[in-house]
Amino acid sequence: MSPNDRGQVLISVGSNVDREKHLPEAVRLLRRNRFIEVMDVSRVFESPSIGGGPDAPDFFNAAVLACTALDPKELRDELRHIEEVLGRVRGEDVNAPRTIDLDIAYYQDHVEEREGWRIPDPGALKSAHVAVPIADVAAEFVHPETNQTSHEIAAALDTTKVRLVPGLRLTAPHRPTRDDDWEDDRLEVYAPKFEALVRQQLIEIGEDPEREGLRRTPLRVAKATDYITGGYATSLEEVVNGAIFDAEGADEMVLVKDIEFYSMCEHHMLPFFGKAAVAYLPNQQIIGLSKLARIVDLYARRLQVQERLTNQVADAVQQVLEPHGVAVVMDGRHLCMMMRGVQKQESSTVTSAMRGTFISDARTRAELLNLIS
Ligand code: ZN
Repeated sequence: MSPNDRGQVLISVGSNVDREKHLPEAVRLLRRNRFIEVMDVSRVFESPSIGGGPDAPDFFNAAVLACTALDPKELRDELRHIEEVLGRVRGEDVNAPRTIDLDIAYYQDHVEEREGWRIPDPGALKSAHVAVPIADVAAEFVHPETNQTSHEIAAALDTTKVRLVPGLRLTAPHRPTRDDDWEDDRLEVYAPKFEALVRQQLIEIGEDPEREGLRRTPLRVAKATDYITGGYATSLEEVVNGAIFDAEGADEMVLVKDIEFYSMCEHHMLPFFGKAAVAYLPNQQIIGLSKLARIVDLYARRLQVQERLTNQVADAVQQVLEPHGVAVVMDGRHLCMMMRGVQKQESSTVTSAMRGTFISDARTRAELLNLIS
């Protein structure tokens, strides 16, 4: 990706109250925000409080590279909301210690003056504790006014008071293939509150969370859960992302079948999984075929019941394409039934949702069922 690609923003993160907890929680809340896609996170740096007096605790600072469809004001409101969730109270003393500080350092290549704030953040040019983490996560990002890269900006500042915190790392988004590369990194923090819950769960079932095999289990469960429930952190608009095209007269049924899905039943939080078929009858618009699978993922990666999942996929296709008809058929196997032996272990559950012509025209419905059987 080239520097300053459309939609890229850089967010500064700082904390000097309970900072080992608040910094990673802030990154987690950014990651879980459905309007913000976290691309990468800098390493963590430590620096003295500026203007906070000699007794003010030192800060931890980091920077987040993200993409968003929010405009600057909306993004700022989201950041303020995350600050509130993490207990930030904006008082009169601007130098008071704070649980968390989230600021837009850059918003693409925008230059704008707003009441009480400015983009880019002037600190990105003047303050080492802002510039260094930005250079760490996005070295080639170009300042829209000075045309310097963030690496050049940081290199020109006095950075003697900004120290890398060795080992401590805030994890970027879950990357399945890299997940276990970090086995030795004992200081990695991802979602401290969630990890504490998993640790407690291990104790409740009679396990010893300190034994070798389990020591990093809370971290792994937090990451896996973020991935498995990633549907909450994504929106339909983001998934479709403009991949809608003129049908150019095509009006034959479009069918994608054998779409694998993995979901979690909301009653037991155990997996159910299987195959989905999604069909529609175009009405002037068609969608990229891979997007149908991504729409299934969007709703599957939440706590679900299969019936609702099936309906949500149908409604989403209806909403984005306004076709003559939509049909979704899902065939799933539920571990909560299989593992608990409630029903026959081989049984599967078939659900369907029909809209438009698939309801009104028996021949269309028969054609579909013939194609997917
Ligand atoms: Zn269940």
